[in-house]
Amino acid sequence: MFKKVLIANRGEIAVRIHRTCRDLGIQTVAVHSEADANALHVKIANESVCIGPAQSDKSYLNIPSIIAAAEVTDADAIHPGYGFLSENPKFAQIVEESGLTLIGPKAEHMTMMGDKISAIKFAKEAGLPTIPGSGGPVTNEVDAKRIAKEIGYPVLIKAASGGGGRGMKVVDSEETLMQNFNTARSEAKSAFGDDRVYMEKYLNRPRHIEIQIMADKHGNVIHLGERDCSVQRRHQKVIEESPSPAISPELREKAGSVAADACRKMGYIGAGTIEFLYADGEFYFIEMNTRLQVEHPVTEFVTGFDLVEMQLRVAAGEKLPINKPIELRGHSIECRINAECPDTFRPWPGKITEYFTPGGPGVRIDSGIYPEWTVPPHYDAMIGKLIVHGRDRDQALSRMRRALEELIIEGIKTNIPLHKRIINNDAFIKGEYDVHSLERYIQGDSF
Ligand code: ADP
Repeated sequence: MFKKVLIANRGEIAVRIHRTCRDLGIQTVAVHSEADANALHVKIANESVCIGPAQSDKSYLNIPSIIAAAEVTDADAIHPGYGFLSENPKFAQIVEESGLTLIGPKAEHMTMMGDKISAIKFAKEAGLPTIPGSGGPVTNEVDAKRIAKEIGYPVLIKAASGGGGRGMKVVDSEETLMQNFNTARSEAKSAFGDDRVYMEKYLNRPRHIEIQIMADKHGNVIHLGERDCSVQRRHQKVIEESPSPAISPELREKAGSVAADACRKMGYIGAGTIEFLYADGEFYFIEMNTRLQVEHPVTEFVTGFDLVEMQLRVAAGEKLPINKPIELRGHSIECRINAECPDTFRPWPGKITEYFTPGGPGVRIDSGIYPEWTVPPHYDAMIGKLIVHGRDRDQALSRMRRALEELIIEGIKTNIPLHKRIINNDAFIKGEYDVHSLERYIQGDSF
């Protein structure tokens, strides 16, 4: 096992990774920008290194600085967390070339899955069902028109290099296709440096259901059930739960085993997530994330496994602790806590004047904040996650309701009021929702 791990991230996920490292007796090195000198992840780490100014591209994305920090502190492995460099194949390669171990998959799998077009191609070859669509890049207006007609409106134009909910355009009819197609390409070019786009049927009321995968270096691959991440705003997840209220044990096993088989076929190593849209009893592959997900704690609650521990162990060459299907125990729900206005969704960084965290049975808080600390304006608005576990969905809902009542964050605005409304919403309570529910609800419609 590793002796010292450098955590190439910040905020709640850096804190989260530190905790498992310490559980395993591993020393940690935090890296931070100048703006994060007093951040929680820096305070709790065993050592820390400043890697540059506030802007991410000069600090958390600065590969030479991070490698140098690992070298001067004599770390033997790097955990990239999520976001930043976690799915960057160039970084993965440099880490390995520097004689360090990356707690993550192989660079070639990051490359394949980072390009959504090659991911879909692989998924098809591996026998995963995909959404009817172009299957490859659409490069001109004539093809765009023909393909849209074939798959039928509404269609979705997606950027091949898109991510984080960005780079998608819904087109309702041929009249607006050309304009959207050309804007999608130029936006993709400026946002991701890649103007390739592809087309997919826009599903009306799907659910977002993803399968957690873990694979070791000995050819063992398991799935750890699903997470339902349908409660989204602007294609970004807001609430996640496991198990999904819409999935039977049979469907779970079906989706889980095809996802695990696909990973086995490619020789995947580490933690990964296969994302599907689910509609009318069918799963459709949309993409694969080659890293730990924000919402991994709900899986930890219902499986009893520490996913960061599993990541560390498989990276160190150990075998997975189990190789039979996992039974999920109880129910878990996660609310992402963002520093933002709950009405306008404008980011709301600033000084935290008061912070009180809930506790009691089945409650977990993963956060990167503390009282009197100032949330810097340079990074993502998510400052933490509130996660609960109950023997069933009803108990998990009650615990989330109670925990949200107890949680106090003063001095900045947060989306806690929005979470309270969702958790008390009838449709959400019944588990009846799809990926567009929250957007409809925010517009004043029913969930
Ligand atoms: P990203 O990589 O930006 O997160 P994804 O491909 O994972 O993009 O899609 C994010 C979300 O966008 C999905 O969870 C879903 O809500 C919505 N979405 C994606 N594809 C479709 C589709 N074909 N029809 C309807 N909604 C979709």
